[in-house]
Amino acid sequence: MSQRVNSRGYLSQQELHSAPGYPSHERLEKGPVVAIECIEEIPCNPCEQACPQHAIIIGKPITNLPHLDEDKCIGCGLCIPQCPGQAIFLIDLPYLQGAASVAFPYEYLPLPKEGQKVRAVNRAGEPVCSGTVIKVQNPKRNKQTPVVTVAVPRKYATEVRGILRSRR
Ligand code: SF4
Ligand code: SF4
Repeated sequence: MSQRVNSRGYLSQQELHSAPGYPSHERLEKGPVVAIECIEEIPCNPCEQACPQHAIIIGKPITNLPHLDEDKCIGCGLCIPQCPGQAIFLIDLPYLQGAASVAFPYEYLPLPKEGQKVRAVNRAGEPVCSGTVIKVQNPKRNKQTPVVTVAVPRKYATEVRGILRSRR
């Protein structure tokens, strides 16, 4: 049976860590890898089809939770914009000394700019720390789901899942 979103409306880190799409701490320490925070057994598999490394396995039935083969993931991020549930994030724990990077889908305008200082938010949308935008990607293949990457203090890497929206 799948884990269900609890009364808080989002899953705790502890709950997510037991999901089959969440990488191990050892893998996170090695460099860029996705965290697939998909915990509902729904008929969906674009993430599996998007991964050229075959690092995401759903198989049959299509309601299986996505399983991450963490050693195959090269951290390309191609799967992030293909997920309709916006449940895939890319974490680079050893990005810089003391700083990690986190990439996430961001479908708001205006898009942030590279170098911009931002407030990073957790899964509940609560600000947790300051960050700097290091990449904004919006090629055609993203199908209008831009991917934003921010650098944040390393200790917040598994918490940060977005940024506060910029004012127009
Ligand atoms: S980041 Fe790239 S290699 Fe890793 S699961 Fe996604 S598409 Fe596959
Ligand atoms: S595409 Fe997203 S919502 Fe669909 S199974 Fe994959 S991670 Fe879950």
